[in-house]
Amino acid sequence: MNHEAINNVRRKINEVMQKTDERIVVGWRPGMDAKREEGDVWQDMDGKTWTIKNGIKQTVTKLDAAKTPWFCPQCTKAMSHKFDTRSYNTLGKCYDCAVKEETKMRYEGTWETYAKQQLQKNYLAGLKDKIAELQHYHDTVSSPEFVHADDEKILMIEKWDVDIEKIKADLRADIEELTNQLNELTEQHNADT
Ligand SMILES: [Zn+2]
Repeated sequence: MNHEAINNVRRKINEVMQKTDERIVVGWRPGMDAKREEGDVWQDMDGKTWTIKNGIKQTVTKLDAAKTPWFCPQCTKAMSHKFDTRSYNTLGKCYDCAVKEETKMRYEGTWETYAKQQLQKNYLAGLKDKIAELQHYHDTVSSPEFVHADDEKILMIEKWDVDIEKIKADLRADIEELTNQLNELTEQHNADT
């Protein structure tokens, strides 16, 4: 397999990884599970977690599972608004808590330093997520078959005759590069704080 073909496969993988709304289902076979409804979460025999979102059966990665909890860890208010979700993802607290703290810090003159550190922290967290995502892909890429499915029927199956070892090696190289970057930036961030 030539280099260009490998690059095409990797581009496809990236596209797949970036699709969050119409998620691609990997390795699903029809008739494997009991009838499930929107929002159900269950585990298959391999211990993989599944859900149905927007009518599409899809795997739940550890990254998705750890997202917004029901209650703000700081004030225990129920987090329901989309501002809460955004606020929780970046600051780890509900929107009200975040606004209150910002107002207080602006008043005390500590806001700018805090905001800068927060930006760095978010960037580092994003890097960590990306590394975990690539690692997950590296660990599960062994079966190069993508099933594009809606609720009941399979829309398309792609089978690729690809050099998996080469793709894995490329992914490992990417992971290593990002890990180095992460370590370097983490050191800088720690020196700043
Ligand atoms: Zn709160």
